[in-house]
Amino acid sequence: MILSIARIRAAVPDSEENNEPNMRLKVLGAYGTHDATHNLTGYLIDDRIAVDCGTMSSKMTLAQQARVEAVFVTHAHADHTRDLPHLVLNRFHQNAKPLTIIAYEEVMEQLMCHYFNGQVWPDFKEIISPSTGHPAVDYRPLSAEKKTTIDGVSYTAIPVNHTVAAAGAMIQIGGQTIVFTGDTAATSTIWKKANRARGVVALVTEASFPNDYNDIAFESGHLTPDAFEAELAKISVDAPVYASHRKLPYERKIESEIRNIRDRRARILVEKQYTF
Ligand SMILES: [Zn+2]
Ligand SMILES: [Zn+2]
Repeated sequence: MILSIARIRAAVPDSEENNEPNMRLKVLGAYGTHDATHNLTGYLIDDRIAVDCGTMSSKMTLAQQARVEAVFVTHAHADHTRDLPHLVLNRFHQNAKPLTIIAYEEVMEQLMCHYFNGQVWPDFKEIISPSTGHPAVDYRPLSAEKKTTIDGVSYTAIPVNHTVAAAGAMIQIGGQTIVFTGDTAATSTIWKKANRARGVVALVTEASFPNDYNDIAFESGHLTPDAFEAELAKISVDAPVYASHRKLPYERKIESEIRNIRDRRARILVEKQYTF
């Protein structure tokens, strides 16, 4: 009897059984600096939605890049945008839908001013792709805290506290939500929004420097593990809260300090695929 139930259960895909899609989060890069074995910040949800682009094209085949529908960019710093110009150029030569670049409006201004300015890189919105007959990109600047739905995925840009214009993302697919702060020092609005959101399955924030680099962390708009713990206290959601964006060569120290936090939600984000 037990066997037959097991057989029936195995035949039902998880998504039908739970009546919920399972969001897959592939962490291509979980660091704020990089070397041969640690990668810059870049996350991919369900193989089609990217959050930040420090590592993206450098770890994906052309076919995988063609499946990316949208990239939400938290801010213009190079460790979050390094692969973006290359992803755009690869898409220009592929028969794929335009890549939607999404960012808080002040961040989008910086991307246009400093990257897609015709000098550092072309503005591919102004160029027709020979593969498709239309531009390879589309830009979607978002107002703060206003939910926008594109192809069944909802995005809310929520400004955070960094040294330049920066906004985290609340991304909802089906009934599930993942919250990404991007780089931030102590902040509050994004946690208030997360505490009220439905179906939050994970929150991804940062711990860039170890505790004894508190001054540098504060001046550069980042968190230490102690500051991460203080942020945890603002979060009422019962979901894992991941520390990403560790700076080399401090990653081991930061990881050990995160492990010492007495809150079972505190986790270290590693470069692998998570399913929620
Ligand atoms: Zn960064
Ligand atoms: Zn930054």
